[in-house]
Amino acid sequence: MEEILNLKSKAKLNCTLCEKCCEYRGDIKITPINVLEISKFLKIPINEFLNKYTEEVKGEEPEIVIKGIGEKKECIFNNRENYKCQINRVKPMQCVVFPLVPVDIKRDLFINSKACKIESDKQTSVDKWINGNHNIYKRNKNIYLKWIELMEEIQPKWNSFSKDKQNRIKELLFREYNLKQNYEKQIFRNIKEIRNIIYNINF
Ligand code: SF4
Ligand code: SF4
Repeated sequence: MEEILNLKSKAKLNCTLCEKCCEYRGDIKITPINVLEISKFLKIPINEFLNKYTEEVKGEEPEIVIKGIGEKKECIFNNRENYKCQINRVKPMQCVVFPLVPVDIKRDLFINSKACKIESDKQTSVDKWINGNHNIYKRNKNIYLKWIELMEEIQPKWNSFSKDKQNRIKELLFREYNLKQNYEKQIFRNIKEIRNIIYNINF
């Protein structure tokens, strides 16, 4: 059975910049906090970020992912010159924890996918691995959990919604924000409105 790791656990976690985690992608999910943080980081409007760098996932609506380009479906944010992530400071949760895979984010529990080919036996603590990354995990954990809860509510019902309802939910999820206002407040406000729509309150 896979070993379950918590923040205090140690594991063989070292990055050799082999770039493997940024190839064959097209599955890196973008949540509302990522939309806001990445747009701000790139200094572009939200609509430009969404149109240029993301796409919808067929069968997993309303989720969106970062575009994978070329034959290798390489993440559009992978820098071809130095193999570094161009949005490292604001990258999505999947990339923050990689090669760890969350089994229970609420309790900070993970398994190691062992997807990195590492020669050295050096052990690193899980806490250092995920929180050394510009504090993204700590900063976005709560909002990420709210996102997961919301997706669990929306996705089983998605195909029963009218096109109008689906489009309105997508607007609220990803577009109706102001980059100059408090991100958390806006996301929680939109989540509340989405729940009103899902449960037919004033829609
Ligand atoms: S696959 Fe692992 S070692 Fe390679 S770049 Fe990604 S995190 Fe680093
Ligand atoms: S966002 Fe960054 S770390 Fe994540 S797959 Fe793209 S280039 Fe790699």
